[in-house]
Amino acid sequence: MAQWKDMAAKPTDTATSPASVSQPGKVYLVGAGPGDPGLITVRGRECLAEADLVLYDGLVNPLLLRHSHAKAQRTCRMEGPEGRRLDQAEINRQLVEAGLSGLTVVRLKGGDPFIFGRGTEEAAALAAAGIPFEVVPGITAATAAAVYTGISLTHRDHASAVAFVTGHEDPLKAESALDYAALARFPGTLVFYMGLHRLPTIAAKLMAEGKVSTTPTAVVSRATSPLQRTVIAPLECIAKVVAEAGLHAPSLVIVGDCVQVREVAHWFEDRPLFGKKIAITRPDDQADAAIDLAWRMGALPIPLPTIEISPPEDWSAVDAALSRLGEYDWLIFTSVNGVAGLLDRLWDQGGDARKLGHCQIAAIGPGTAAALKTYGLRCDLMPDEFRAEALGAALSSHVATRRVLWARANRGRDVLPRELSAAGAHVDQVVVYQNQDVTAWPDEAVQQLEAGELDWIALSSPSIANQVAQLLPAAAHVHLGRKTRIAAISPVTAEAAKEAGLPVHAVATDYTWPGLLNAIARATSE
Ligand code: SAH
Repeated sequence: MAQWKDMAAKPTDTATSPASVSQPGKVYLVGAGPGDPGLITVRGRECLAEADLVLYDGLVNPLLLRHSHAKAQRTCRMEGPEGRRLDQAEINRQLVEAGLSGLTVVRLKGGDPFIFGRGTEEAAALAAAGIPFEVVPGITAATAAAVYTGISLTHRDHASAVAFVTGHEDPLKAESALDYAALARFPGTLVFYMGLHRLPTIAAKLMAEGKVSTTPTAVVSRATSPLQRTVIAPLECIAKVVAEAGLHAPSLVIVGDCVQVREVAHWFEDRPLFGKKIAITRPDDQADAAIDLAWRMGALPIPLPTIEISPPEDWSAVDAALSRLGEYDWLIFTSVNGVAGLLDRLWDQGGDARKLGHCQIAAIGPGTAAALKTYGLRCDLMPDEFRAEALGAALSSHVATRRVLWARANRGRDVLPRELSAAGAHVDQVVVYQNQDVTAWPDEAVQQLEAGELDWIALSSPSIANQVAQLLPAAAHVHLGRKTRIAAISPVTAEAAKEAGLPVHAVATDYTWPGLLNAIARATSE
């Protein structure tokens, strides 16, 4: 679906083989909710974490695949060279085949799997093949769209009942199963799924059967996503107003007096970054927190990794340092990866935090400190400003004649060892992770950049700024400062961006991802 074509899912090509092929696996039919990735259930997330294979439909937000390590395949509405729509029988066959081969499968479906979702057909196919299955309900589009647009479908002053109606009946049916006379008389709110294209007919038939022509009507498109749009008009002119507004599928039509209360309860579309498309340049395996936060602030995060993180080619220097940990006075961490690289290796080598003994610990900023906390470690020193110069300055009065170990990447600035050595420290540096440039971006992201469809590119380090300058397609440069703006996490990053030829339109005052997104929000509201 066009709504989600912007979002690259986390690469998921690591399907695990089934432990045994003699036993059938298990299939979970899971409701993914209406689009906001926060609206999947806890049980749904657990199933995703367990899965070997995920088959997801066109309404599902691919960001949900970040909860899974499974091989993932879209079953319909695919665009591009591999794009082909599977029919229902084919999907049922695939589910049965995967189940029989012993895999744990998640069939992830938009909204609730049993509300206009053909989930029952899939369950019946699995039951017939003797494959164990479980169904996990989801938040259906009607209730979610109503809430996110500020409408109560059962507002006590306006509606004592609500009906979910399909606006798109099986084209093979000779006669409409919908009784418009009954629908027009229905004493409550009508919600039409799949009705956008037939809106003129639906409105006309309801009015012909006596529905009052001034009944307030809302059409909510791409509900619960940062691209949500709501159009409201009396029933008699809703089709015209919607056509003029150019709303896209998926859309729901809500007909009833409860719609008029919307102005009072309107909230979602007021988020500070509502509707902004923001490229998140963080390495893929660390992008989750920034993506979640961008989404919570109303933005559509577009993963655009510029750097890949991998383990060092050779651990011998790290292992040697780990074997002498007791000799160090200070351990210094300047990234989340540095923390994980050193401490995971310590664990893998049979050690744990006790090996750190009397060592004091310094962290460059709150992200690094939070990573330390997950290992049960508190940092003794963190500078007021989250940059190498400030860390060096804060440490300089503590490290004279001391032995210091810095867990670092294979590349980066050398400010810290210089400053610490100048302060009289004996500094050892070990490369605990590699930081490599991504050499190309996904085609879809490139097309969007070229078309000026991204509102912001958020840069979170000087090396990322350089890398974005390298990878940015020539056609995207004309949009810089007009349609696409650039934000930097710190003055150092802003400087690097400018030197690389990128104009900078917002700089964070707090050098963290929340600080960066807040800077974008401030610049957006100016
Ligand atoms: N099982 C799904 C519905 C599938 S039918 C559920 O429970 O929500 C597909 C229809 O659902 C679309 O044509 C549209 O009418 C509605 N729909 C699904 N997601 C939507 C969204 N995010 N915004 C508006 N309508 C949506």
